[in-house]
Amino acid sequence: MTQVDIVNAMSDAEGAAKVTALFERTYGTKPAGVWAAPGRVNLIGEHTDYNGGLCLPIALPHRTYIALSPRTDTQVRVVSDINENDVQTADLNGLEAGGIDGWAAYPVGVAWALREAGHDVQGFDAAFSTCVPFGSGLSSSAAMTCSTALALDGAYDLGFGATDAGRITLINAAITSENDMAGASTGGLDQSASMRCTPDHAIRLDFRPGLTAEESAQQEAFDLSNHGPELLVLDTRAPHQLNDGQYAQRRATCEEAAELLGADNLREVADLVNAQADPATALEGVLERLDDDTMRKRVRHVITEIGRVDDFIEAFAEGDMQTAGDLFNASHDSLRDDYEVTVPELDIAVDVARDEGALGARMTGGGFGGSIIALVNQGESQRIAQCIADEFERRGFNAPRALPAYAAQSAHRVQ
Ligand code: ADP
Ligand code: MG
Repeated sequence: MTQVDIVNAMSDAEGAAKVTALFERTYGTKPAGVWAAPGRVNLIGEHTDYNGGLCLPIALPHRTYIALSPRTDTQVRVVSDINENDVQTADLNGLEAGGIDGWAAYPVGVAWALREAGHDVQGFDAAFSTCVPFGSGLSSSAAMTCSTALALDGAYDLGFGATDAGRITLINAAITSENDMAGASTGGLDQSASMRCTPDHAIRLDFRPGLTAEESAQQEAFDLSNHGPELLVLDTRAPHQLNDGQYAQRRATCEEAAELLGADNLREVADLVNAQADPATALEGVLERLDDDTMRKRVRHVITEIGRVDDFIEAFAEGDMQTAGDLFNASHDSLRDDYEVTVPELDIAVDVARDEGALGARMTGGGFGGSIIALVNQGESQRIAQCIADEFERRGFNAPRALPAYAAQSAHRVQ
């Protein structure tokens, strides 16, 4: 059997050296600075952000690095070490939503969104390098848009990057870029995680509309070295699925259900249900008011998943790793059976992890491919990743890869 691939994170020094060299080779000058923003892994609370719900991501040590210089005109040039002969160009002047094709839409869209929001940003030259796998549910897109937003904030002295509250402006530009320039729907979890997480903490993000910056995020200690288990992140590398239609469908169903239930969003319903002495019976009562089976399943996922976020935080804080693991399992089963966003690779990776002694395992990210996470005993990550890789090989799936993971820092200036 083939040995499982391990994707190690680049250090800041390595990342900075790479993007600086690429910048110099491409543009023949030195960059004004180097910035980085991480990918993220969501511990629990999936498909809840766009329902006004809760989620609990950590920032990965895997980051996207950007070397950037501002320009005095409105031209943009971007290059990525994915293909360094492909320098993409754009003009911010007269640019409209959806006006850029391909990967350049992500960084160009950030400058466009900042300008649309009235901020004084001109063009730029930038070079990127990343160790966040693409399309793996670990948010390479947010790592790219958030690193660009922080770099533009620095290069144009906008002053938002220095504070957590200020970063909301940059997060919004990153979200707008993904939604309106790249045409990839996103609910805000990824960008908030990449911009607001702190080392050794998971961030409890609350997407209830109308909250202040302070109310919307709470740092929760997530220092695994205190508790024993490790977090295994495994990218299944399931073939890319066309999931945009599916995501939009799930969102639309949730919105329709909230309306039928007379609520602004499913979070309101979840809060009512979870406040009852017997939430399970309360949930049944809610579901009886809906007459579509699929809609009932979607609503059951969202409401139970929102409840699991605080249950997980409580279990983890008490050092009750078995309950924390059980909640991972319940989350996955709900995403598989009720939200129906898993694929065989995700289900099998989760099954193997559980069979091999993981305390709990679940898919993470939007689903339809991507990654799983598992809470495993100290020293077990690599063995369990290998067992998953062996099972994938037997089944003829793509070879998965494992990422050593811990709660790392959010977007920052490197040089
Ligand atoms: P995810 O965010 O889960 O990794 P997405 O489909 O949202 O998946 O974003 C992946 C896309 O982001 C890539 O296909 C590519 O277009 C773009 N991208 C992200 N990082 C880079 C990079 N360093 N260089 C070029 N393109 C990138
Ligand atoms: Mg993405």
